[in-house]
Amino acid sequence: MSRACVLNSGYLQEIHRGVLLAVVLSTLAARLLLRSTFLALAVLLAAANLRASDDPVVLARAGLGAIEAGRFGDALDAFTKAAAMRPGDASMCFGAGVAAFMLGKDDVAQRHFECALTRNPEFLSASTWLGDLHYRAGRLNEAISIYEAALRRSPEAWEVRRQLDNWRKELLLQSRFREVRSEHFTALFETASDEALARDVVTRLETAYRRIGDALGLHPSRPITVLLYTRAQFNDITSLAGWSVAAYDGRIRVPLSGAAAQPEELDRLLSHEFVHAVVATVGGRTVPAWMNEGLATVLEPGGLEPNPAQPTGTSGRSDVSKLPESFVGLSARKAETAYSSAARAVRHLIEQRGVATVVALLTDMGRGTPFPDAFQSRVGMRYEDFAALVAQH
Ligand SMILES: [Zn+2]
Repeated sequence: MSRACVLNSGYLQEIHRGVLLAVVLSTLAARLLLRSTFLALAVLLAAANLRASDDPVVLARAGLGAIEAGRFGDALDAFTKAAAMRPGDASMCFGAGVAAFMLGKDDVAQRHFECALTRNPEFLSASTWLGDLHYRAGRLNEAISIYEAALRRSPEAWEVRRQLDNWRKELLLQSRFREVRSEHFTALFETASDEALARDVVTRLETAYRRIGDALGLHPSRPITVLLYTRAQFNDITSLAGWSVAAYDGRIRVPLSGAAAQPEELDRLLSHEFVHAVVATVGGRTVPAWMNEGLATVLEPGGLEPNPAQPTGTSGRSDVSKLPESFVGLSARKAETAYSSAARAVRHLIEQRGVATVVALLTDMGRGTPFPDAFQSRVGMRYEDFAALVAQH
């Protein structure tokens, strides 16, 4: 079966590869690290009255540690306080922006990235994260102008140049698009002859909105955009593997050909992508792929019933705690196993603890609790133990 996925790999890879930390360190902590010796000394000398919460250097170091540990709520607090104490320091604003972005607090993140660029207009990473934020919100013009400004200041930034070329092509395509709206969705499509199809898509999405919203007890108010493409346009814009039939990266993207032309398949993939939008709204951007894809799969129409096509033995199953952070780069065969394992795990979780527990877990993550801690407190066991149990079940 073809699968639909959530595109969240870029920034997670950036954080996990340590690139982000290197960026923050290079602008902030080169100075701080030099100072750390003196700081340690100062702590020793003045332990009685030096309170960590009063010192921007200590706060920034705590913020970096929190980002590294996935405690984005703590990181946001620490960097926000540090930024206020050091009004000239762009990296404090950047750290706060990254933490807010990961929590899915886009308005807060935007403000902090803009603060970083006001303090230091040459701060390339602040530009790329801010541009990406606008792009994911569908504000292509803003994304492009931020990248253009960044490129004028850093003409050697080839990755920025390549991304800018892609966004300009996408803007050109999108400028020809028409739109239809329903209460919660806006569909964008290219040719007038597809208008009936676009109306059909938003109608199906409204049905999914009610069904899934009622099941989860969540009804997002922010309108969601769905872009309808030809397969060639979809491939060009998303660069996804051939097995993927839709994507969510802040907006839902669907190629209207092949599988999507069948009503049941269209309902399945629209429901699936809508769940990704809900997960992003409630849980932010750190929800593990198995949880995100598993929930999206079980909330497809009929998805809570066990899939009769799935293998009855345990071969073909994966321990979800060992699955990659994004399914996007998997081969078709590995993706099939990953999605069905993720769905089994989430189905099991819902059967054992109820859907409200899953929603509570996502809500905790959106407030900054790292996934392992949220899982343990809401489910009452370590998620690795849960995953191993489900894999053998
Ligand atoms: Zn998906």
